[in-house]
Amino acid sequence: MTAYSVIRDWMAAPKREAVMPAVFVGHGSPMNGIEQNTFSDAWARLGSELPRPRGILCVSAHWLTHGTKATAMPTPRMIYDFSGFPAELYEVDYPAPGDPGLAELALETLNVLGPDALDHDWGLDHGAWTVLRRMFPEASIPVVQLSIDWDQGAEYHLNLGKQLATLRDRGILIVGSGNVVHNLGRVDFSTIDKPGSGYEWTLDFDGAVKKAVLSGDDDGLIHRERLSGGAKLAVPSPDHYYPLLYAVGARRSSDDVLVFNESAVGGSLTMTSYAFG
Ligand code: ZN
Repeated sequence: MTAYSVIRDWMAAPKREAVMPAVFVGHGSPMNGIEQNTFSDAWARLGSELPRPRGILCVSAHWLTHGTKATAMPTPRMIYDFSGFPAELYEVDYPAPGDPGLAELALETLNVLGPDALDHDWGLDHGAWTVLRRMFPEASIPVVQLSIDWDQGAEYHLNLGKQLATLRDRGILIVGSGNVVHNLGRVDFSTIDKPGSGYEWTLDFDGAVKKAVLSGDDDGLIHRERLSGGAKLAVPSPDHYYPLLYAVGARRSSDDVLVFNESAVGGSLTMTSYAFG
């Protein structure tokens, strides 16, 4: 299977209702939001080849909360949640509208709809906008962010993904944005823009996760320490790993799996990404 052939097949399939895929995107450095490189090129290509979503529900590694929340404002603000980057990155605007109705629908689907769950303070963090501005540069598709309940564990998050699967039938694109391997303390910044530069434990864990994803081993993905001896180094904190579990949870047994941007940078980050559909 060549990259993107699956997605092309969905587009070509006549009279088939556009069931949206569920996607996990490795976002890596915020610079990927403004640089044209192999990763951001793949995001752009993915966005151009998907059926047009009615709305996007994005689970970003950068929004951790007590309880699950969804952004419910009509015009989400930009959040520049990083420091030490060039001024150009702070000038990026991605004026996608919000969708309070989609926020309610998502929370209702998860059975957590309540006044505290509808958020009016957050907006679009860089886990969301760096990727989405390349996938959908016209910024016309409504975006709702769903937070990660930091009080919960892997199984809980994968189960939320399962519940969200029904939204795919309603034209909602589910996007998890994180990184399978994300150890900032071990990053070698001299190779941060050099695809193919991964430590042994980085490649080992990333490969083990890929094997688990392709074989449908949800249990292995929940108990990631069983997958590889490198798990603790690869995922010192699961904030960037949990978004993968939402996309995996939202997959269906009939889905094909597309693997893209399968690469490590900076030694201890992997960009490996998945589309289920
Ligand atoms: Zn990040």
